[in-house]
Amino acid sequence: MMSNPNAAQASIVAPTSRPHDGFQTSRVYDELGMQRDPNNVYLQTIDAVLTAADIVGAPHHLQLILAQPKNETMVHFPVQMDDGSYALFKGYRVQHNNALGPYKGGLRFHEHVSLDDVKALALLMTMKCSLVRVPFGGGKGGVKCDPRKLSRDELMRTTRRFCVAIAPMIGPDTDIPAPDVGTNAQVMAWFADTYAQLTPDKPNGMAVVTGKPVEIGGSVGREKATGQGVVDVVAELAPEMGIDLKGARVSLLGYGNVGSWAARIIADRGAKVVAVMDHTGALANENGFDTVALAEYAKEHGGIAGFEKGRGGTATANNPGLGGDPISEKEFYSTKVDVFIPAALEQMINEENAEWIDAKIIAEGANAPTTPMGERVLLKKGVEIIPAILCNSGGVAVSYFEWVQNKSHVTWDIERVDEELNRHMVLAARRTKLARHRYECDMRTAAYIASLEQIAKVYNLRGIFP
Ligand code: NAD
Repeated sequence: MMSNPNAAQASIVAPTSRPHDGFQTSRVYDELGMQRDPNNVYLQTIDAVLTAADIVGAPHHLQLILAQPKNETMVHFPVQMDDGSYALFKGYRVQHNNALGPYKGGLRFHEHVSLDDVKALALLMTMKCSLVRVPFGGGKGGVKCDPRKLSRDELMRTTRRFCVAIAPMIGPDTDIPAPDVGTNAQVMAWFADTYAQLTPDKPNGMAVVTGKPVEIGGSVGREKATGQGVVDVVAELAPEMGIDLKGARVSLLGYGNVGSWAARIIADRGAKVVAVMDHTGALANENGFDTVALAEYAKEHGGIAGFEKGRGGTATANNPGLGGDPISEKEFYSTKVDVFIPAALEQMINEENAEWIDAKIIAEGANAPTTPMGERVLLKKGVEIIPAILCNSGGVAVSYFEWVQNKSHVTWDIERVDEELNRHMVLAARRTKLARHRYECDMRTAAYIASLEQIAKVYNLRGIFP
């Protein structure tokens, strides 16, 4: 007799939708002694996950397990500055869950990095890896510093000392960091080199991080992967939301790695990027920006400010627009668009600016960019929100491909990477759509449900030791 492949799931996941009354969530909070705080990004993320867990009837012990990370590490380490003085830095590595595989998640260098931020981001990684079906768990780390104020040598010494501080808890088979805000392929190269020096007995020490330069084992396509994944998901979901990417109007909050790549790739597909804002200012161009020139300008100048009409950028045959006109923050948010892509930091779309937003879709390139209050306003206005765990999972998908290439000593070409990335993104989007139809819920809850179903199956199969 054929066994039912859904049997494990059926035993732990209720077959039909049931109303979420918040009772289970409150129980988890009470048992773990957690205090409610609507402004805390970690608790907001937990709330969303527990809501989904409750809807699918995930067992109470799984909810308890997911509500706290497995390990939280805080380190302090001194670094010599160029003037000979010493600065003491605080770093974090949070390992949320490894039921599906080694912990995986980026390293953020930013002056506002805090333990709760890192915990929230680690939890999101657990959910993201499960949704996009890569065999990793969730982790995240960071150093509280402003990398823009460090010289290249200071940044290198900070990276190397941070690696030494967390080396005992990471490794190519246990926990594999990657770039995030404030870090890049060069930082990963220093990090990997330090780890390899510390562990000469490990043949594959450089595989301790992904997002490395291609010359030292990075994957082609990794740098653009997150932005490309955002566009793959939007392209999959847009038609049924009545949007044709060709000619669609797009705005971007953040024009760093994720934002600038999403902009370039969506423009390649015929969309027009009409408004952009980053930490240096906001610009609009009704004809559509030259997204490549803007990316080059932002890289060179540390932001988009100054990329105004008649100044930076080169005209192309298809895009006569050079730079843009400076606009206010309110004008940026109020620009009428089909797709709004937040690709900066957490919690930037709040109750106030959500009222200003005039978009059909929010495609969350950044992690946790929308506060629950902001989300409520947007959903009430009928805006579709494609959640971060779906929308920005292209980065971890290609990180997984890099890790596979490192472990098997092969290199893939860009066609293979692009094709595999697209397949992973489209399947994750379809899983989310299915959960949405099945449970008649918003897209964020649906993405968490599709992710939790996999985690719940794995827990059911593995059981809890002993
Ligand atoms: P980045 O450092 O390359 O870019 C960050 C962007 O945010 C910059 O354009 C910066 O100007 C802008 N920004 C910062 N503060 C701002 C403010 N107050 N107002 C407006 N803009 C502001 O970082 P990134 O790698 O592009 O990451 C962006 C987001 O995407 C983060 O939430 C990150 O966690 C998430 N993410 C990144 C990846 C990746 O592969 N890089 C993968 C998944 C998720």
